[in-house]
Amino acid sequence: DRDVVSPQADLDDRAVEGALRPRRLADFVGQERVREQLSLVLHSAQRRGRAPDHVLMSGPPGLGKTTLAMIIAAELGMPLRITSGPAIERSGDLAAVLSTLHEGEVLFLDEIHRMARPAEEMLYVAMEDYRVDVVVGKGPGATAIPLEIAPFTLVGATTRAGLLPAPLRDRFGFVAHMDFYRPEELERIVHRSAGLLGAELDGDAAAEIAGRSRGTPRIANRLLRRVRDYAEVRADGRLTLATARAALELYEVDEQGLDRLDRAVLHALLRRFRGGPVGLSTLAVSVGEEPETVEVVAEPFLVRSGFVARTPRGRVATPEAWRHMGLEPPPDAAF
Ligand code: ATP
Repeated sequence: DRDVVSPQADLDDRAVEGALRPRRLADFVGQERVREQLSLVLHSAQRRGRAPDHVLMSGPPGLGKTTLAMIIAAELGMPLRITSGPAIERSGDLAAVLSTLHEGEVLFLDEIHRMARPAEEMLYVAMEDYRVDVVVGKGPGATAIPLEIAPFTLVGATTRAGLLPAPLRDRFGFVAHMDFYRPEELERIVHRSAGLLGAELDGDAAAEIAGRSRGTPRIANRLLRRVRDYAEVRADGRLTLATARAALELYEVDEQGLDRLDRAVLHALLRRFRGGPVGLSTLAVSVGEEPETVEVVAEPFLVRSGFVARTPRGRVATPEAWRHMGLEPPPDAAF
């Protein structure tokens, strides 16, 4: 099923994923620019003996945002506290986290765009002045009691930076835009992971896995494990090109790395909407998914691969999409 290739991980995979995480900036493959920028931010702060600026990371799921947050804490030699937007339903939830931070600690706030509105405002103040205003009482008699908190570094992650209100976005001193990885970077990641898993991986098999990983390390690692399973059960355990191809075919990952959801979206766009333009929500409904899933998980890769174009009137399939799906575009197709 599509969970095998979706960027969301199951529980078992989570455990192995942890073991495959690079621990230091130097082990983090790819994202050269982000790495260099981040390294400067961290090391200059360390030289000044201050907590570094708050960091915002944006990009599609599975590109290493959580990993980078852990690395930031490790590089600073500070503990990491982890929470997420959906866990903060009231500003009190955030106050509880902020008021128990120790000096210099790194707070990772995943899916920061999903935090409750009132908490957002509390966060601005905390980021800027290291203060939370705790409201005591209700109605006209309510008073805000300012509470000083320890200087900390916030690392926020979001799949949709555009959804963050500008005042919040502006309070991050550094915004890291994470982009899909190049095949050769994924190849290095897959080789590194195979080493950690104790698997024997041929060079051409690594290239095959990398090429079908949707530019995403988490998927590369997942496909590597599925190829390893296949090699262990159906072959002699060695990860060769032939086993990689057979395993990837079994898991329905095509040569371009498109998985079931990607293909379902393309299929609906081409067949049901004659190549578009069609609105995102309509498209999502027709494949039985939440609009956010289609927008965050499938679309960025389809756009990046040149199969889908975003236009003011909606999503449109490109000639490559028709070709890839083996279909003839209608004469009046909108591209
Ligand atoms: P999400 O936003 O869904 O939490 P994420 O972007 O935080 O995803 P991570 O959980 O950090 O993604 O990364 C997924 C896995 O991919 C990690 O377990 C790690 O092994 C691997 N990985 C990510 N980035 C790299 C990298 N640059 N080098 C090596 N491995 C990486």
